[in-house]
Amino acid sequence: MILANGWIVTMDDAGTEHERGWLRVEDGLVAELGSGDPPEPGEDLHGAVVTPGLVNTHHHLYQTLTRARAQEANLFDWLRELYPVWAGIDEESEYAAARTGLAELALSGCSTVFDHHYVFPRGTSGLVEAEVRAAHELGVRIVASRGSMDLGESDGGLPPDSLVEDLDAVLADTERLAGLQDDGWVQIAVAPCSPFSVTTRLMEESAELARRRGLVLHTHLAETVEEHGYCRELYNCTPVEYLERVGWLDGDVWCAHCVHLSDADVRTFAERRVGVAHCPTSNLRLGAGVAPVRDLLDAGVRVGLGVDGTASNERGDLFLEVKQALLVARGRGGGKAMTARDALRLGTRGGAAVLKRDDLGSLEPGKRADLAVWRTDGLELGGADDAVAGLVFSGPHRVDRLLVGGEDVVRDGRLVTADEEEIAREHRIQARRLDR
Ligand SMILES: [Zn+2]
Repeated sequence: MILANGWIVTMDDAGTEHERGWLRVEDGLVAELGSGDPPEPGEDLHGAVVTPGLVNTHHHLYQTLTRARAQEANLFDWLRELYPVWAGIDEESEYAAARTGLAELALSGCSTVFDHHYVFPRGTSGLVEAEVRAAHELGVRIVASRGSMDLGESDGGLPPDSLVEDLDAVLADTERLAGLQDDGWVQIAVAPCSPFSVTTRLMEESAELARRRGLVLHTHLAETVEEHGYCRELYNCTPVEYLERVGWLDGDVWCAHCVHLSDADVRTFAERRVGVAHCPTSNLRLGAGVAPVRDLLDAGVRVGLGVDGTASNERGDLFLEVKQALLVARGRGGGKAMTARDALRLGTRGGAAVLKRDDLGSLEPGKRADLAVWRTDGLELGGADDAVAGLVFSGPHRVDRLLVGGEDVVRDGRLVTADEEEIAREHRIQARRLDR
């Protein structure tokens, strides 16, 4: 397949763009690309912008079932209100939630989704498998995780005792789910939830398991000032010092949020090669603050973007996060703190680096043919000579076409293998069931 007459934004090391370019896909990979006319005639993109498929580095798909709750709460109060509702999820509702979340993301140009699933109510099974099935049916890549919580209220944790699991059961299930990995389509991460819901022993043993099995490691960290107070009280240290204590400061780890990092923490992340999932909308929604992303990038830290769960970012749109990352960086550091292309890089190449996926995130020969095509002839881009910057500044947008591994997932702004209305209908049935 050859795509011609598009503005190709490669996101390679040099930031190469072909303003009138072409790209050839073969066997699910980018075969070649260049400027001007293609070697043979191809499909005419009429000047549309082509970017790598976006990479989401932090999400909780099940939370599509519980939007617009605890509307004025901070993180801890929000969690306390939602834990009991989430205790009702099962395989059926998880599947409906995953289809909705993944469909929303695909329609925002997102081809790879990391899902941090950490709620496993007793007696349920098949939750992670349900997400993997939903991703497979839609045609997107998933990085699923066996998350966990084993520190309940009676032991000083935040979640209710009824929602925490036995440590050995968590580790055994993680070992089992590691077997789901599938050649670039399904990747499994080990992801205990947070310092305030997981025991020190489970943090340590999770790292041991991940390293033994060659899996990546993820957790929430330094999201709010309340979390700092909590770490101080429970462990007598900061969240980053706690990560050091449990053996997590290494290149196979990335953490969500990292809003409250000191300058020394930023240097530590750089030196120890720890990555960050920046989730600007969720952080604003919960009043948590704004992560020091300019400082992290200047220090050389890997940073990607996450929508976070749709209970704290009701819009599961990764392109919106690209724009939001730009805006909050400028709100924090002034107009030169981030360019439109820097922001787009966070959502593509940055995310791939965070997930340790050098096969994704840029359009170069040999990389996976995951690409998003954005129309430039709509009302919102009139007058924008720089269509790439115009797209970012005027986001979000429904993607016109999304290819994952060279296959169409979205075509003419519609899902190819699924029916959006049917997904929405089923999802509402499951959300109502959860409320009962
Ligand atoms: Zn989260």
